[in-house]
Amino acid sequence: MSDVVERFLRYAEIASMSDPDNEAQTPSTPTQFDVAEVVANDLVDVGARDVRVDEHAYVTAHWPASPGLEGLPCLGFLAHLDTAWQAEDNPVHPRIVRYEGGDLVMGVVDGRVVKTSPAENPTLANYVGEEIVCTDGTSLLGGDDKAGVAEIITMLGRLAHDPSLLHPRIAVAFVPDEEIGHGADLLNLDAWGATWAFTVDGGYIGECSYETFNAAEAKLEARGEAVHPGYAKGLMVNAAEAIMKVNALLPAEERPEYTEGREGYYYLDRMEGSCERASATYIIRDFDREGFEARKRTLEEAVAKVNGELGCDCIRIHMRDQYYNMREGIEPHRHLIENACLAFEACGIEPYSEPVRGGTDGGHLTLRGLPCPNLSGGSMNPHGPKEYVPVRDLEAMVDVLVDLVGRYARAQGLAEGTEGEEPASQAA
Ligand SMILES: [Zn+2]
Repeated sequence: MSDVVERFLRYAEIASMSDPDNEAQTPSTPTQFDVAEVVANDLVDVGARDVRVDEHAYVTAHWPASPGLEGLPCLGFLAHLDTAWQAEDNPVHPRIVRYEGGDLVMGVVDGRVVKTSPAENPTLANYVGEEIVCTDGTSLLGGDDKAGVAEIITMLGRLAHDPSLLHPRIAVAFVPDEEIGHGADLLNLDAWGATWAFTVDGGYIGECSYETFNAAEAKLEARGEAVHPGYAKGLMVNAAEAIMKVNALLPAEERPEYTEGREGYYYLDRMEGSCERASATYIIRDFDREGFEARKRTLEEAVAKVNGELGCDCIRIHMRDQYYNMREGIEPHRHLIENACLAFEACGIEPYSEPVRGGTDGGHLTLRGLPCPNLSGGSMNPHGPKEYVPVRDLEAMVDVLVDLVGRYARAQGLAEGTEGEEPASQAA
């Protein structure tokens, strides 16, 4: 078994889901410390420097530059330690199966066969006759994102064994609670020191994504006038009806269930109400910044219109932006995308980029000033018991990361982040 597979199986066995009901604490679950300790020990074993697990289960470490390349900008890599909370995670029984085509069967759970197929995952057909990591069907696998963790550490191990692989200084961080939206929030970017970074948290191999939604949340609070319904004419103001009127003014086809690709949406996430009081929470998503602002205005105008019709300030709206498309922050550093694509191609993998219909850790970091696209980790069907990771992709991602750090030992990326200093030696 190769290093990366052995590491991945070991990490996957440690159940470490995050808990959205305990998000005030980081980590939201104590089990994330368990995986953090194991990962930190592995970092020490491969020879990483300044290995630290802090009180929030953040694991950070550094890897010194190849001799003579100390002046190059520091390149960061991140992955997350938690797994999704939407599926059972304890215990996790990761195993390697040989895929013979047709259904990929994880196991039989309560008399039900847990399986996937090329009909569900067309790329599965590329792995006939190969080994695939999955579970026994009783839990998720956690390849999102323990595959990324294993790939990054194995890449460092490779650098340790082969000094001819030139690289700049590397910073790594393995963070908790990404699945509940807090990954990397508490990472001290100054101390960590990366000039730019990559998350290794994407799906099918070859991914290099650098677009996320622009995101806002809007809370509507309506106050009505409750009156005996038999004598309500001209007097009653029904708060629940008022919210429904606002909803009816939003474009019906621009909802999550009708949109895909680059299309944005309005999503009625929650609502409750009576005649006297009602509330609704919407989220608004759009890749385009102007479209995003227009959507927010549409919702505000709908509220104003209904208030006007009712002749009162019955509905109040509180809107806040949650995050922005990382593309704007990445564009000035195109070399990140270009080098990642070249690294995939050098390893015989076709690169692709796809707008992420959500946010990523890298999106938050990009907004904080650290440009950070997202690379594939290889986990397919994440967040459920049908999750699997092809062995070939685990191993290939290590090659891709080694190639990528090599590109930052050369002239690329020198134009910014340094004082124009030439590296003392060049990679072949
Ligand atoms: Zn993830």
